[in-house]
Amino acid sequence: DTPVLRKPEWIRVKAPVSQGYADTRAIVKDRNLVTVCEEAGCPNIGECWQQKHATMMIMGDTCTRACSFCNVKTGRPDALDATEPDRVADAVAAMELKHVVITSVDRDDLTDGGAQHIADTVTAIRSKAPGATIEILTPDFLRKGDALNIAIDSKPDVFNHNLETVPRLYLSIRPGARYYHSVRLLERVKERDPSQFTKSGLMVGLGESKEEVMQVMDDMRSAGVDFITIGQYLQPTRKHAAVDRYVSPEEFAAYETIARAKGFLMVSSSPMTRSSYHAGDDFEKLRAA
Ligand code: SF4
Ligand code: SF4
Repeated sequence: DTPVLRKPEWIRVKAPVSQGYADTRAIVKDRNLVTVCEEAGCPNIGECWQQKHATMMIMGDTCTRACSFCNVKTGRPDALDATEPDRVADAVAAMELKHVVITSVDRDDLTDGGAQHIADTVTAIRSKAPGATIEILTPDFLRKGDALNIAIDSKPDVFNHNLETVPRLYLSIRPGARYYHSVRLLERVKERDPSQFTKSGLMVGLGESKEEVMQVMDDMRSAGVDFITIGQYLQPTRKHAAVDRYVSPEEFAAYETIARAKGFLMVSSSPMTRSSYHAGDDFEKLRAA
């Protein structure tokens, strides 16, 4: 058993106690929705839900993959629920979200990897909550041919797909995925619809070097990626990949400077950054600029 590193003082988790948190929780429970905020045990849940920002997870709570950093359960998922796109859209309208992030488990069991269901969800939100900007955070559609195009053609405002870690660590951290396939996916989105913003993210503290992180930034920029998120990996349970080290706030600030110099339009790099953390605020700032 490897000893668990002590969390430094800059990793802060506030207990979720606010009224806003309770309201968001009520809407989520009422409509029988799954959020990645809960499933991933995200440390920002108190803050995000208080501000009525939540990331919906569609296509069930069971994933066909088993990434070693992720708290979502692995197994054989249930059949898709055709009422889900409308239920999600109703919730987005009820919460009056300005920006919504829709993510999902991987569905290697489906011929299109769930692309049509994702597209249906985007379409339903467009019609029921026309004021909301929509970000999809997608699976990799590995071995799903052109299914990716169905998701692109639903025209989300932001197309997000996380590379998660540096290529050397894929086998242990993201088995089942292929680094260059994921880079190419991001490039395909940009080629097919240059009007969509593309976004990707990395967790650090898994044993990667600074040079490797910079290489991933370059690969993202070569694929035309617009936004980048970099956050500290936290071990969800003792059964998950161990934290190699806690990256200091100064190192995160240095990554931010480097990323901006490389031409990313939006950069979020901090210990508590998550793929969907403050996604709406940043997007709003960008649109106002
Ligand atoms: Fe949810 Fe994302 Fe906020 Fe975490 S950072 S609580 S996953 S919206
Ligand atoms: Fe978790 Fe996504 Fe990996 Fe599934 S594919 S185990 S949801 S990170």
